[in-house]
Amino acid sequence: MATCDGCDVETDEIKVYGKGRTRQRLCSDCYEDAVRDDEIAREAEDAMGGMMEYKG
Ligand SMILES: [Zn+2]
Repeated sequence: MATCDGCDVETDEIKVYGKGRTRQRLCSDCYEDAVRDDEIAREAEDAMGGMMEYKG
């Protein structure tokens, strides 16, 4: 058993989510949330970069 860093729930299914230097042990629910947040952040960055390119 391990404890999820996201919601403090003990679970057998811990996934390690690494982002830069940060590593979190997350249950599958929190892992999916983290991946989704990451994708949204990346899309936002892409959109921002696209706008900058378009401008100049
Ligand atoms: Zn969790």
